Amino acid sequence: MLKISEFNHNLLGWYQSNKRALPWRETKDPYRIWLSEVMLQQTQVVTVIPYYEKFITRYPDIDSLADADEEALLKDWEGLGYYNRIRNFQAAVREVKEKYGSVVPDQPETFFKLKGVGPYIGGAVQSIAFNHLLAAVDGNVLRVISRLDSDSRDMTKASVQKDIKHRIEEIIPLEAGDFNQALMELGATICTPRAPKCIMCPVQENCEAYKENIVTELPIKKKAKRKNELYYNVYFILNDQNEILLKKQEGSLLQGMYELPKYDVDTSIESVGEELGVDIEVSGEHIGSSKHVFTHQVWYMEGYVLHTRSRHRDFIKLNEVQKLPMSRAMQKLYSLFQAENA
Ligand code: SF4
Repeated sequence: MLKISEFNHNLLGWYQSNKRALPWRETKDPYRIWLSEVMLQQTQVVTVIPYYEKFITRYPDIDSLADADEEALLKDWEGLGYYNRIRNFQAAVREVKEKYGSVVPDQPETFFKLKGVGPYIGGAVQSIAFNHLLAAVDGNVLRVISRLDSDSRDMTKASVQKDIKHRIEEIIPLEAGDFNQALMELGATICTPRAPKCIMCPVQENCEAYKENIVTELPIKKKAKRKNELYYNVYFILNDQNEILLKKQEGSLLQGMYELPKYDVDTSIESVGEELGVDIEVSGEHIGSSKHVFTHQVWYMEGYVLHTRSRHRDFIKLNEVQKLPMSRAMQKLYSLFQAENA
């Protein structure tokens, strides 16, 4: 068990002197803190910083993000991945504008009902912006706590994560936002997955795993399932009007993104043409290969150019493509195509 007062004092003292200067730490604006936490889910700090700065310039407040054109927003998010995050965020921000006069609710029970707000985002925003005594448990925090308590339970289990959240909330001090950030910061900079810097750790005296010399054996995480490997042919279908066929995605995680048509490698060109409503005239050259790793899948893609005289609303002028949001997976192949045609 944690030794509360000494532990809190050491951790908070260390955090005040050692925290990294991050742009979202310079504000108490709940909208900006919320935006940063949405971006930081599944994404490294170093990647998030330029996106955060761009968004704060273009969408400095609730109203500007609520009123933003979804396509422009997706384009600005391009490269951060997990596009549901920004779609949900905009839906939630619109609700804040319409129902709460553009003021982010400071009652946790209201805030937690907004779209995309789960235990982590809710705890982080409500504690950092409003100092509510809520925990924000991410992967860093789970690792730190599992080591401090020498907890050998499976940290991927929802029941274990819930229990850890409750236990942090039993000891969380009035400076709840700083406390949560201090735990995360400790995990990100000192209590790292491999080779933790125990010698520099402000809470080493409270650490059971350190005493038992089992630091690198924790946390326990059950083996992730092997990722599904999927093989696709991706088609650059060009017509004689300098246009390319892109499919705007509907009802999937990539909703609103413009994607090159991709098909299982066994699908015949005739079937591709039929499904897309184009007459394929020339089967063109191989553009190149690309691989993209998602959380649960790996896509292996081969890019091919096809020619047609067909035209319909899915064809887009080649010089307009860069203005449209496209997933990172497709962008990799698209840049090969651009290099070929430069
Ligand atoms: Fe992590 Fe080591 Fe500190 Fe324990 S002593 S919390 S293992 S850095």
